[in-house]
Amino acid sequence: MDTIQIKDKNFTISIREKEIQKEVIRVANEINRDLAGEEPLFLSVLNGSFMFTSDLMKHITIPCEISFIKLASYQGVSSTGTIKEVIGINEDVTDRTIVIVEDIVDTGLTMQRLLETLGTRHPKKIYIASLLVKPDKLKVDLDIKYVAMRIPNDFIVGYGLDYDGYGRNYPDIYTVVD
Ligand code: 5GP
Ligand code: MG
Repeated sequence: MDTIQIKDKNFTISIREKEIQKEVIRVANEINRDLAGEEPLFLSVLNGSFMFTSDLMKHITIPCEISFIKLASYQGVSSTGTIKEVIGINEDVTDRTIVIVEDIVDTGLTMQRLLETLGTRHPKKIYIASLLVKPDKLKVDLDIKYVAMRIPNDFIVGYGLDYDGYGRNYPDIYTVVD
């Protein structure tokens, strides 16, 4: 299936499953090498990163824990509009090495907010592992240590990422047409 339709939009295949898996394994190996002895706590950001997290963790061979968090949007009182609240951090992150597992960093504002929130809980160190990064759209200065793939600014779906709730189930990544 090289083209798909979701609601009003058409998408064409842009990154195949095989290519995704190769880069995910590379990232897992980098983490295994860098964080050996750290017993990291992986924090997977739902919903978008569920597939990436699952594939990544199958190739993590060092002792580690995994947990899941979610960012709930709510309307802030300030003029900045919608901001996100982090829910589901039940673990004690004090002095822990944390690896945030994200699907995509676009402007980076979501990640910045997450780093701020986690930072108040005194972790030892926070690393970011993102399946995808759109480097040309980054608005904030972020050190994204582990990146599976860098992509152009176009909107994509598949491999966990959705368009209006649909399309997360595809094993490949698709880019919107025009
Ligand atoms: P940021 O705060 O970095 O601008 O946005 C991050 C969030 O925007 C991601 O976690 C994801 O939910 C959404 N997002 C950004 N770009 C895309 C895209 O191309 N496709 C999909 N499905 N979601 C995206
Ligand atoms: Mg996300």
